[in-house]
Order: sequence, then C-alpha cells, then structure tokens
Amino acid sequence: MHFSSLPWIQHFRTLGNDFFSPVEASPLSAPYWVHINEQVANLLGTSARAINNTSNLNIFSGKEKLTPYGNIAMVYAGHQFGGYSPRLGDGRGLLIGQLLINDSILDLYLKGTGKTPYSRFGDGRAVLRSSIREYLVGEAMHALHIPTARALCIIGSDDSVIRETIETAAIVARIANTHIRFGHFEYFHYKQQFKQVKQLADHVIQQFLPEQRAHSNPYLALFNYAVAQTAMMIAKWQSVGFTHGVMNTDNMSIIGETIDYGPYGFLDDYEPGFISNHSDHYGRYAFDQQPSMGLWNLQALAESLSSLITTEELKTALAEYEPLLVKHYAELMRKKLGLYREHDDDQSICANLLQLMAKDKVDYTIFFRRLCDFQVNKINTPLAALFSQQKSWRQWQSQYTQRLALETQTDKQRQQLMKQTNPKYILRNYLVQRAIEQAQQDKDFSEIDRLMTLVQAPFEEHPEYEHYAVLPSVTNKHLPVSCSS
Ligand code: AMP
Ligand code: MG
Repeated sequence: MHFSSLPWIQHFRTLGNDFFSPVEASPLSAPYWVHINEQVANLLGTSARAINNTSNLNIFSGKEKLTPYGNIAMVYAGHQFGGYSPRLGDGRGLLIGQLLINDSILDLYLKGTGKTPYSRFGDGRAVLRSSIREYLVGEAMHALHIPTARALCIIGSDDSVIRETIETAAIVARIANTHIRFGHFEYFHYKQQFKQVKQLADHVIQQFLPEQRAHSNPYLALFNYAVAQTAMMIAKWQSVGFTHGVMNTDNMSIIGETIDYGPYGFLDDYEPGFISNHSDHYGRYAFDQQPSMGLWNLQALAESLSSLITTEELKTALAEYEPLLVKHYAELMRKKLGLYREHDDDQSICANLLQLMAKDKVDYTIFFRRLCDFQVNKINTPLAALFSQQKSWRQWQSQYTQRLALETQTDKQRQQLMKQTNPKYILRNYLVQRAIEQAQQDKDFSEIDRLMTLVQAPFEEHPEYEHYAVLPSVTNKHLPVSCSS
C-alpha cells in the first residue's frame, strides 16, 4: 500500500500564503521503523503490515513528498508561561497532507522534519525519547476517552541531536482533526490583520460548525464552542490525573483536543500541586492549576477574537467556562465513584476523599481501581491498606456506604460498571522511561509494543502484565521530565 494513494485534499492551503510557508522536509539519514500503530493505521483504512514498506518509509522520514501539493509549516504565535511571543509557528513539524475520512478532515503531520522559517534557534529536530513519549500518550488519552492527537508511526535514525546530552533523532507522524491553535488567532490579531482573523475563524466554522454558519453571530458560536470543548477537555484531564505541563496558548487546539505533548505526567500519588515539567519552577501549569490556566488561555483567545465579537458577548461566553468544567468534572468523578444518581452529598464525598488521599499520598489510579471492588459492610482491606489515617478512612468509608444505599446496583453490578471507568493501567513516567531506554540502548522496541497494548486497553485485566499495575517504588515516582524535546 502506498500512502500517497489515499484521498488527499487541500484544505488549510486554501487560506493562502499569509497562513503558512511551503517547506521541504530535511530527511533523516538511514531511517528505520521504530513502531507502527495498528489502530491508527486501521482508522486510515489500512494496516501496520501494509504500511511497512520502503516507499512509505521514504515518506515518513521526510525524503519523499506525500502529495503533489507539498508540505507546509503553519505560522502562529502564543502566550508562553504568561508572556507573549509574537511569532512562533511550526519550527520542527510540517503538515504533509489532509485526508477526507467519513466526511471529516484529518491532518497528517510530521514532527522532527528539520528547520523551517519558524525554527528560531532550534534545530528542527525531535529526539527519539520525546517521540516515544508523544506516541504512547496519544493512545493512552484516546483510550481514556479524551479527545487527542494520535500518532501513526515513529521513524528513527542514528543522526545525533544535541539536547542536555547527545541523543538520536526521530520523526513522529501524527494525526489530529486540526492543528489550528489559539495562537493562530493571536498571531493575526496582534499584527492587526483582522481580515485574516476573520478568514481563519470562517475556516474553522466551516470545518467544525457548518450549521452555525447561518447563525446570527457565527463567531460567537465558535468562541462558545472553544470554551465548552476546552472546559470538557480539562475536566477530563483532572478526572484521570493528567498534567499537560506546557499549557501555552500555542499548545491549545481551537477545538479542545489535547496536542503537543512534552513534559506531561499522570499522577502517581494524589498530589494536587504536582508539577510534571521540571522547567516550570513556579508551578504555573501544576495539576491543580490547569482549570484556571484553561480560563487564562481562553481569555487570551477572547482578546484575539475581539475584532469579531463584542466585549460583552465574550465576557458572557467566558462566564460559562467554570460552571461547565465543574459540572463535567462532577459527572466524571461521580462515575469514578460508582454513583449513577445525582445527590446533594456527592460533591462533599468526592472532596473529602481527595483531601484524605492528598494527606496520605494515596496512589490515584490504584485507589480508584481498588474502589471498584468495594463491598458494602466489609472491611475492604486492599483499600484500607492505602491509608495511614485509618480513622479518617473509616469515616469516609461509612459516608460512602450510606451514599451507596441510594443506588440500585448490587456490589457486583457496580464493580463491572466502575471497571469501565477506572483504568487498571496508566502510562506512568517510569514505564515510558523503560521503553525509551531499551529503544535507545538496544534498538529494542518491544517495550513500546507492550505498553501500547496496555494503554490502548487500560480497563482490561491483562493478567500477564499485572506487574505494570503495581504501586511504583519511591524512586520511580518522581522522575523529572525535561522540557527539551
Ligand atoms: P513546544 O512548547 O514544544 O510546543 O514548542 C514551542 C515552539 O518552539 C513551537 O513553535 C515549536 O515549533 C518550536 N520548537 C520547539 N522545539 C524546536 C526545535 N528543536 N527546533 C525548532 N523549533 C522548535
Ligand atoms: Mg507546541
């Protein structure tokens, strides 16, 4: 199967030259396949096996063009750690094609393809380490029902790349419903190119909100959509214990898909102030700051749409963010707790639990998985063992037991439902690190394969991989993750 035979279209390109630069990829030398994602291959109507040939290797390593239209690097800007950077753009990635699948458009994007006009001081490369991290987490998030960019494959090379140490280069081929970010709008707004702001907004509306085109104010509909999607995305992050690490506005997709994974982390212990990015000294993007940073970013987006939408309307739309996020988070947490009816006490049950978990540094994923096996009027030893403050735990357990009495499920039925909500396997940093080390040292990619199996089906038992679901050791818990990728 030759990739170029798929139904490629030109969509983003129709916006014209103000929005991108045509760029030729700088190919990796002597490229090799690191991994191909069967699920994403299937989504594209093919299989890993059919993709695995030299002509596709040439495409994904940047040697050959995918479509006759050529590749483009998009221009955008963004607020990075609170400060405005007026010109960022695709500094090391290229949109190589857009595909029409089941009436929706899918971007195919290569990351790590060399310098572009937006590279600034960067080398345009991505290292194997961060490529593996990005590759696996897209699958993990997707399986946890969080809208996300995903990746089709990783290509490796022995080309060296200088980071904190010397590493090797790689390219990730990723797919996303769009690569348009908040920062795209900011770029044109701050240059006072309001015509281009409108053009971009029309483009997104046409792609994602076609029925709103006839709306009295389609731009307001677009902003409302971005607010709602972002609120839902962040509520989901909070419920699974995910920390993005670099929530700059250039990393925020306009449709609320999680993109641009760098120094992310899933919680081990429930630690509300967890900082996954070790360059984030002030904890701007700490786990518990994400909901308010989402709002901060939406305020920046609002400013950049102020030529299209009145201040009053923007304020009213922004006011929807917090209640939406809180409501969605409450629903998700209720499901994690196995509570399927709504009750006034639910919020306090959840808050009391999280407070207790934070005090006792209880592992977030393991607690909820064990909670699935909770039995009313039993001691529930595996759960009790996670707490040092036994009295507080028993108090919570009795509050929970009383609340469960208002539900209709038996222990067994609740267990089955909860196991579809509370994953057994989570992509802990130390697990990814092990896969990275094997890949770097021995070109052994089998651990990537194993982790892929687990994160693509995180709710299943996988009895042969029980040891991937155990409490991490103290040294495995606090691995620093660098921003340099
Ligand atoms: P990030 O926070 O990783 O999404 O990157 C922020 C900006 O820096 C984006 O415009 C990237 O394209 C650019 N960038 C990051 N790393 C590199 C690199 N090695 N070479 C060129 N540009 C880069
Ligand atoms: Mg980025």
